[in-house]
Amino acid sequence: MSGDVRLPAALDTPLRVLAPPPSACGTGRLRPVDGRARLTPVDGRARLTRPERGNEATTPAGAGGEATGEAATPPSPGGELCIGPGWVDLHAHVYDAMTQISVPPDRAGLDAGVHVLADAGSAGQATIDGLVRYVIPAARTQVRAWLNIGSHGLVHLRETADPAFIDVDATLAAIDRHRDVVCGVKVRSSGAIVGAMGLQPLQLGRLVAREAGLPLLVHVGEAPPLTGDVLDLLDAGDVVTHCYHGKTGAPWLAGGAPAPALARALDRGVLMDVGHGAASFSFGVAARAVAAGFPPHTISTDVHVRNIAGPVHDLATTLTKLLHCGMGLERAIEAVTATPRRILRMEQPWLGDDGTIRHATIFRLAGAAPPGRAYVDARGDTARPDRHVIPVATVREGVLAEL
Ligand SMILES: [Zn+2]
Repeated sequence: MSGDVRLPAALDTPLRVLAPPPSACGTGRLRPVDGRARLTPVDGRARLTRPERGNEATTPAGAGGEATGEAATPPSPGGELCIGPGWVDLHAHVYDAMTQISVPPDRAGLDAGVHVLADAGSAGQATIDGLVRYVIPAARTQVRAWLNIGSHGLVHLRETADPAFIDVDATLAAIDRHRDVVCGVKVRSSGAIVGAMGLQPLQLGRLVAREAGLPLLVHVGEAPPLTGDVLDLLDAGDVVTHCYHGKTGAPWLAGGAPAPALARALDRGVLMDVGHGAASFSFGVAARAVAAGFPPHTISTDVHVRNIAGPVHDLATTLTKLLHCGMGLERAIEAVTATPRRILRMEQPWLGDDGTIRHATIFRLAGAAPPGRAYVDARGDTARPDRHVIPVATVREGVLAEL
């Protein structure tokens, strides 16, 4: 809409409203009022509203008019159009131009339908000031940071392999400097990264996180350390990312139930995050876990330069993969909206009392994949989903932007 109040024709149609509970799901229509997009609930029926300013109240004739009693969401060749709160990607790498692996925030963010990105440890205490001073202000997408327990962050890809790379007090001071940006502490707790340090980076990261009153985001992967020993150090509200990685030592039993240490962690209130990445997602592991009743709490990409051209692409592609693995649509949307916002302490109603849209992502649930899109996991296995999540627009403070 951006200044103009005309609705794009493609969006002047009933939308399926997919908001996490307790918000009601149903059907709605976009209405531009004073240049801002509002969502008008439609009581199970379509109602056309002319988009031009001053004409909002009229109900011109047309397909799906209220009086006709047509179905709320008529089938369309491009798939069903849906709207819900703005998406959040809890694990991404967007310290652009500072670390080799980061991508520009808006490319993984608003340009891909994602309103909030949590950078997962690209910055440590020695490098966070640059993220806050130069990268975040230049992005349209909101960015939060899991502060790496390794001082340099991901400038160095074995960021905690040496005791000299960790400074507990300086990390706490950096958190104090940037309380509005730092959402928690990131520790990559796998063999290729920690080397002979074993569990020490996690133990020190936990010390900092508990001292600061923040959650941990912990990457698991190849041993050592053993994943069970890692999980035993996590508390309620901490997040384990790469939960379906599929490497040797993954915390799952063959039938899809969690191994004992993961079961204990889940009982304590530890949360599971997908963190797809280049090496950390298996269709088989995810599908078995979802079938056994263990879907992820949050769906995230771990997007970076080595996977943005595939297999990750974007958050929508990761959402499509989780639907393919058996996750329900409402639950999948919750895993990219309400749950990550709660973890980031960024809970904010997506609709104002008058229906003004504060933040929303509009997407198609289509029967056909985006052109050229292949669905490959980190192990090279390919899937053929029958539903494809394709973002088409974002709305921020009532301002609609088509993608
Ligand atoms: Zn990552």
